[in-house]
Amino acid sequence: MDTPSLLHHPGIQRAAAMLKKGKVVAFPTETVYGLGGDATSEKAVDSIFEAKGRPSDNPLIVHIADTDQMKSLVREVPPIGKKLMNRFWPGPLTLILPQGDRVVPRVTAGLDTVGIRMPDHPVALALLKLAGVPVAAPSANLSGKPSPTKATHVWHDLAGRIDALIDGGATGVGVESTVLDISGEIPVLLRPGGITRTMLEEVLGPIQADQNMEQPVISPRSPGMKYRHYAPAGKMWLVIGEGMELKKKVQELADQGEKEGHQVAIMTTEEHRDFYRARWVLACGKYRQPETVAQGLYECLRQFDQLGADWIVAEGFPPVGLFHSVMNRLIKAAEGRVVHS
Ligand code: AMP
Ligand code: MG
Repeated sequence: MDTPSLLHHPGIQRAAAMLKKGKVVAFPTETVYGLGGDATSEKAVDSIFEAKGRPSDNPLIVHIADTDQMKSLVREVPPIGKKLMNRFWPGPLTLILPQGDRVVPRVTAGLDTVGIRMPDHPVALALLKLAGVPVAAPSANLSGKPSPTKATHVWHDLAGRIDALIDGGATGVGVESTVLDISGEIPVLLRPGGITRTMLEEVLGPIQADQNMEQPVISPRSPGMKYRHYAPAGKMWLVIGEGMELKKKVQELADQGEKEGHQVAIMTTEEHRDFYRARWVLACGKYRQPETVAQGLYECLRQFDQLGADWIVAEGFPPVGLFHSVMNRLIKAAEGRVVHS
């Protein structure tokens, strides 16, 4: 269904009424499921942090359905901001802009900037339009866990902790939005996501990437960078390299885990699956179609927990295009256990 017809959907109307009352509602977007609350309500924003167990210094992205809503949220939109909004909104691009006066301080974790995006999902847009308020929405998972790409993932993590959940089926992109800071002189990429660096550079020319983007650090520019993220319960290793060398190293690490008595799982793609031997070999997508890997990534990471794998070896990808975003998540999921083949 499209957004105009969904405006009449009783479930979405009810969820929007709840948002207006300061309640928190999980809903699908084109990236992952979000846990939304009125960004102008302290009570709602507190509830989001509480439900997720999210550290207070990790700011939230504010979601809008209409660029008119930006007036009270940001001090100003630079010309490149307008260009980016025209080109990529609605879509998986979050813009960091100088903060206006209507956002409650906790949304931005005390920073003087605010992250804003317009999601490209009919349910999300209908919900936002009906609610009529800017909606702060981090991913709808428990803090530290893989982001939810299906309603069942949200339910698994947050049942009993949230007021409502809208099931809109599996999300499309599968990884979170790209975060681009345009509050300063030069645009800086803080998190790779659904919009690739190449797509941004087609509009902006060469952009800078934050040096700390790939590793956990103490005082990052994007506060979310420093936390344990996306991690399965088991110990995960990420192997970087190419061709046969890469595959051999993956198998070698898996064998080592097996020898040490671990429940071993390998994460790979459909094309490479038959190469490996381990208790579990999961393909998260097709190597030749990076968008399928992005779509399947979090489901795969969640499956390792369900299976009870306590030693996971993941095959790395060349860090370009959507694979760049996938690798960014895998490096964090592996908590620094990155091995070069
Ligand atoms: P999530 O909503 O869970 O996808 O996480 C939102 C991401 O956006 C986190 O990495 C935040 O640190 C980042 N973010 C949100 N607002 C800002 C901001 N004002 N400045 C820098 N990073 C931000
Ligand atoms: Mg998140």
